[in-house]
Amino acid sequence: MAFWTNDGREVVPRLVWLIDARYSTPAGAAERMTFGVDAENGELRYATPETFGLNRTAWSMNYNSANFPNSLTWLWNEGFPSSAVPAALSAYQLSQKPWLTWADVLMQYDDFEIVAHHPASHSSWYSFASPTTHWLLFGDFMAYELDAVAHEYGHGIYRPKMGPAPYKWWDEYHAANEFYGDLSAVVTDIRDRGGAIEHTWKITSDVVRNLKAPTTVVGDFRDWYPNRRFVGLSSSVAYSNSTIFGHALYLLISGGYHARVGGSAHPNSGTIPAILVNPTNSALVLQIFGVALLDMSIAGTPMNGPNLRAATVAAASTVAGATVAANVGNAWAAVGIGHACSAPPSVPTFEIQPEFCRGRHTITWSTSPNVKYHGELVRHPYSFDVADSVVDGTMNSCVQNVGGLSRFRMRACNACGCSAWSLPSTMQYYPICY
Ligand SMILES: [Zn+2]
Repeated sequence: MAFWTNDGREVVPRLVWLIDARYSTPAGAAERMTFGVDAENGELRYATPETFGLNRTAWSMNYNSANFPNSLTWLWNEGFPSSAVPAALSAYQLSQKPWLTWADVLMQYDDFEIVAHHPASHSSWYSFASPTTHWLLFGDFMAYELDAVAHEYGHGIYRPKMGPAPYKWWDEYHAANEFYGDLSAVVTDIRDRGGAIEHTWKITSDVVRNLKAPTTVVGDFRDWYPNRRFVGLSSSVAYSNSTIFGHALYLLISGGYHARVGGSAHPNSGTIPAILVNPTNSALVLQIFGVALLDMSIAGTPMNGPNLRAATVAAASTVAGATVAANVGNAWAAVGIGHACSAPPSVPTFEIQPEFCRGRHTITWSTSPNVKYHGELVRHPYSFDVADSVVDGTMNSCVQNVGGLSRFRMRACNACGCSAWSLPSTMQYYPICY
């Protein structure tokens, strides 16, 4: 139902069919639009054109302290660089590259958002999201590097589509958010250079991540989905897991085998399998991931590895056909999504044995092959929204020292997903040792 009005004087309800349409032109341009057709007379009443909005305001940003923004200079309204600001034109040219990269993708941009890193130094990074003002804040040093800027544009594409960020850093929403940032960086880099080079797969000149060989970079970067990380209170969990998706992207564009093929497939008992992925045009890959993101957004599909695999395979099938779709599936299989499983594990059961001394409790559970266990502990009043992850691995027991009334819960995860959480059990602090 839609409502027509003549300057607000009277309102007329009309039944309108909303038609979701995709099309492409012989020149290769592709759009996705929603048409509203009047149900009574068939007239076209409404259309949302694809708009790559060039209407956001960009400011400079010099980050020095907690008081930010402390130095803002207007650089441009997108499409209209400010020649009055010396740095503006070069920054404008830089910013143009990622937005033109995404402008070729089959999806709508009307709710595009920009975020930006603005480091105070090479060793200190900050990110800033501005869904209301749509500012692009430029910092110093690496913030002016193309892949840093393009990475933020990737967040700007992802976040409005996937909605508000969940509280927990282990939620794969966050890993995929960082992945879409790196996807944007890599494809912008390839587009800008006319092809991939070795450094295309390294994010920034400091190599904060390497999608070609994730585990070679200092940090806890993962490359095998069954071994994704759960414990951690900071964004490092998201970056650790993002490179699993990132390595699949590398394989999909460059082709080849997993970086550690034949190596340990922890927690699976075997080795990382030799699954050959064929090289795929990077612009097509970006389009597939754009369509997948839009489809997941429309369907309200939760973001995680198996769902992203399914969505990109379906998108590839629509956009490029069965052969490319199979290759996309192989890229995900090569990093272990869906490996050695047909469904998520069942909910684990555990026993808590109090030791009656300073809150020590031993928790035990039985294990299954190829499964990681994820446990959370929370103090009274038991909001698991703010629980700490305290178990992440293939172990069958752990010891928790609780300082008061606390609750513990677990779930089990494999390469097909995670079980539901168990019911929580309560632990209590006993002050007497004997
Ligand atoms: Zn990021």
